Amino acid sequence: MRLIEAFERLPGIGPKTAQRLTFYLLHNPQSELDKFSEALKNLKRDTKECEICFNVAESSPCSICLDRERDQTKICVVEQALDILAIERGGFYQGLYHVLGGSISPLNNVGPEELKIRELIDRLKTGRVKELILATNPNMEGEATAMYIAKQANRFPEIKITRIGRGLPIGADLEYADEATLNRAFEGRREM
Ligand code: ZN
Repeated sequence: MRLIEAFERLPGIGPKTAQRLTFYLLHNPQSELDKFSEALKNLKRDTKECEICFNVAESSPCSICLDRERDQTKICVVEQALDILAIERGGFYQGLYHVLGGSISPLNNVGPEELKIRELIDRLKTGRVKELILATNPNMEGEATAMYIAKQANRFPEIKITRIGRGLPIGADLEYADEATLNRAFEGRREM
């Protein structure tokens, strides 16, 4: 079946899971399948990159950037949009975000200019931001990226630069951390 093969190409899905998903869908009403395939078909068309924070969203600016209820004085820097989903699930953070689009990695030829760091510094120039929370992954690339950004942001003495960490296993990816762990890592963030 073509659908089984399509599922198998997804990350983390083996042949057995691909079969199970396909047969699960087979037992769904056609109307549900139509909704599912419609969402899949329009995935790219309905998805934009936020012009402010580079989050993946249905509109630009994204709903987080437009939400005036959120704390405009905090920006949390993450490597990828998936990390925002992980943090938002916990509901403990009310500030804004900035998606870098990766981390500094000389081995993979990713330098600071490949990431949205200049755009971040531009956001800091507005003078509204009071805290910059560096939530890059707790691995070598993530640490190097956090250090680089901290150095760049040092020229804004009014901004407190903090790094999440405590409680997060070394080498772990933010997107896989559970809510309690992430919450602890945020609560225990330290000034850099
Ligand atoms: Zn945004």
